[in-house]
Amino acid sequence: MNYKLTIGWLFPELMSTYGDRGNIICIQKRCEWRGINIEILKLDLGLKIDDLRSCDFLFMGGAQDLQQKIVSEDLRKKREILKEMIEDNVPGLYICGAYQLLGKYYKEADGTIIEGLGILDLYTENPGENSKRLIGNIVIESGIMNHELRQNTLVGFENHGGRTYLGKNIRLLGKVIKGFGNNGEDKTEGAIYKNSFGSYLHGPILPKNPHFADYLISLSLKEKYKKSVPLSPLDDSLEWAAHKAIAKRLGISI
Ligand code: GLN
Repeated sequence: MNYKLTIGWLFPELMSTYGDRGNIICIQKRCEWRGINIEILKLDLGLKIDDLRSCDFLFMGGAQDLQQKIVSEDLRKKREILKEMIEDNVPGLYICGAYQLLGKYYKEADGTIIEGLGILDLYTENPGENSKRLIGNIVIESGIMNHELRQNTLVGFENHGGRTYLGKNIRLLGKVIKGFGNNGEDKTEGAIYKNSFGSYLHGPILPKNPHFADYLISLSLKEKYKKSVPLSPLDDSLEWAAHKAIAKRLGISI
């Protein structure tokens, strides 16, 4: 059988920092190497509802506050569709600014509120200009992946002023081993709601975490074809070397 996934890349021009576009390349290549066809739809300002609806996997990266505000206004018009898709288990990965946007609100350093889409039970506040940004490499432990290597760590690079706090109706993506994560206080990182994943991990996250990339591909195939589609193994030696190198910089041996 010929499998195909349509990837919706939300706001590639405005929401893409610290290598976020590498996530799209990673998903595309890992699928193509296995003979899975990939179509990438770039969904920019004024995106068409039908294009959004046709996606099997959604990705949106991070941005500075200015871009986040523009996107928040545009996306508000499509909020119901996006909410419907997320509630219907369409898999998605939302990094940093995108993750914040799916929550209730983001309070900027000067106190201005950027309304979120209110789809995920979380909110984000930047404590003010005198507070430090949460910057650096990060390692977290996540229980979501049942990878053959039993590798449960995720590594990445974070750079955010906002502190995110999770509500009761959402699970964390992982626990911080080294780094800041959601808010630098409670050791949580990211969030999971149905098949949607929010995270502060740029870097980009997927090439350095091939088990997570495959997990998202599997989820997308399963949702679309309503059955488990086995993924043939790939030579991930370089990817795991990158993963381990980041952990090693933080004094963690994997
Ligand atoms: N503007 C947000 C913050 O600083 C998001 C930054 C980002 O996406 N890297 O918290």
